[in-house]
Amino acid sequence: MSNFDFDLFVIGGGSGGVRAARISASHGARVGLCEESRLGGTCVIRGCVPKKLLVFASQFREAFEDAAGYGWQLGQATFSWPDLVAAKEREITRLEGVYGRLLENAGVEVVQGRGRLVDAHTIAVGEQRFSAAKILIAVGGRPFRPTVPGGDLAIVSDDAFDLPRFPERTLIIGGGYIAVEFAGIFNGLGSEVVVNYRRDCILRGFDDDVRRSVEAGMQGRGVRFHYNNHPVSIEECKDGRRHVVFSDGLEGDFDQVLFATGRKPYTGDLGLAAAGVATGPGGRIIVDEYSRSSVESIFAVGDVTDRIALTPVALMEGHAVADTEFGNMPRPVDHANVPMAVFSQPSASCVGMTEAEARAQFKELKIFRSEFTPMKYTLSGRAEKGLMKLVVDAHSDRVLGLHVVGPDAAEIVQGFAVAVRAGLTKADFDRTVGIHPTSAEELVTMRQAIA
Ligand code: NDP
Repeated sequence: MSNFDFDLFVIGGGSGGVRAARISASHGARVGLCEESRLGGTCVIRGCVPKKLLVFASQFREAFEDAAGYGWQLGQATFSWPDLVAAKEREITRLEGVYGRLLENAGVEVVQGRGRLVDAHTIAVGEQRFSAAKILIAVGGRPFRPTVPGGDLAIVSDDAFDLPRFPERTLIIGGGYIAVEFAGIFNGLGSEVVVNYRRDCILRGFDDDVRRSVEAGMQGRGVRFHYNNHPVSIEECKDGRRHVVFSDGLEGDFDQVLFATGRKPYTGDLGLAAAGVATGPGGRIIVDEYSRSSVESIFAVGDVTDRIALTPVALMEGHAVADTEFGNMPRPVDHANVPMAVFSQPSASCVGMTEAEARAQFKELKIFRSEFTPMKYTLSGRAEKGLMKLVVDAHSDRVLGLHVVGPDAAEIVQGFAVAVRAGLTKADFDRTVGIHPTSAEELVTMRQAIA
């Protein structure tokens, strides 16, 4: 037994912190955890979970529209935003309770309040002081607001889940995950949506075919894109709406303006400098493959680090810290081939390299691409195409990247991610029998390389 109050003290009760705390405790460590807000963190309280619930809500519109092609006659559907917000809140509260019980059952001592590093082994939470042999920082990130005159009249994604009134016209600024996902949600629920992005196509970093396919699908559903410029001012109108002037001179009035312009690590007043923890660009904590910071006793996982900001990645990192430090199972984390999904409408998902990334690293590629109308859309007459794409190394035949746009993209890619991660070849894909009729069978039946 050490002289410290805890073997591990975790700052932040989100996905990564809670996982590390529970698993460390199960390995026999004495664990404390502090959280200033609600247990569950970004993912459960103001991220993945409520977002997906809102995506489900917004998809009913498409189902109602498509139903006629299948013989259904529906009456006038009405939608209640307050009812949806209340139902979402009940589910979030339930999950918050589950997180609390998981920690309690694991024997983790939970302290309410924001933690601050005092030194390499001491944490302050309000007036209380705790000592710990090891400290894990898992405080996540917070939405970033660019400096625009009147920018405080805009909301961020944290606010979008609980708006008192549903907006009739919504401006979304940004072209990343949150921008396209909320565009789909608000559009599906009946708002008129404009996405304003400073470049010329959404989802920078994704495969170019995927970007174009998602953009076309969103346009087909009524989302408008306003590219290559940015807002220069936001003012409140007499009727409470927001008057936005853009750098190209265009102007418009919106009920809500949403900044979806990235997230920054939530490290203000965390005491990183006091403890000597080094940070990199954007204030992200620099860690090694064991999530150890520049200070021997201090670790960091999740969105506060300089790695991939996704919940399952934070879970993997937190679990690995627990196993390595308290389970006698040294486990470096591997961020290769992390599957990703964007719950836009249409949705997109991928694992491995984009075609551009592969071209920069491999001499010769084979590209397989299939664009097709999902069977579900045939009777409903929806003119939207799905996309399946494989990026293959011509020399080894290994599948380097796999990309899907269309219904259930994430559900499809999760399974195929095992194959890509295992380094399987196109010949292995070809030997696999398809499941018919599905969209996913395209991935094992594409025979003709297009490039
Ligand atoms: P992203 O990094 O995905 O996108 C940020 C967007 O904002 C980019 O289009 C960026 O443009 C733009 N931007 C940045 N700064 C400015 C500025 N000053 N003025 C105008 N535009 C700006 O961040 P998000 O906020 O969408 O999401 C944060 C992170 O959360 C994601 O990176 C992802 O890791 C995670 N997330 C994951 C989800 C999922 O797995 N489905 C869902 C939601 C979030 P540019 O491209 O030019 O840099």
